[in-house]
Amino acid sequence: MLNGQCPRCRSRSVYRSRNGVISGDKHIFVRGLGFSSPRSDRMTYVCTACGYYENYISDKAVCRKIASKWEKV
Ligand SMILES: [Zn+2]
Repeated sequence: MLNGQCPRCRSRSVYRSRNGVISGDKHIFVRGLGFSSPRSDRMTYVCTACGYYENYISDKAVCRKIASKWEKV
């Protein structure tokens, strides 16, 4: 998705916008960290061919904390 190609339909019709698709209010809750992150931390990527979208947390400090708390896949 980040390279401009949809992982679902393989189209290259991918667009991005900060908080382009949001749910909830001013913050997103991050399970296990005991705090919520401002929703401005998210970048949304949308495939306009199939409608698939992904949200990415851009704050690396939040990502590091998740890595220390969540189960590794
Ligand atoms: Zn697609």
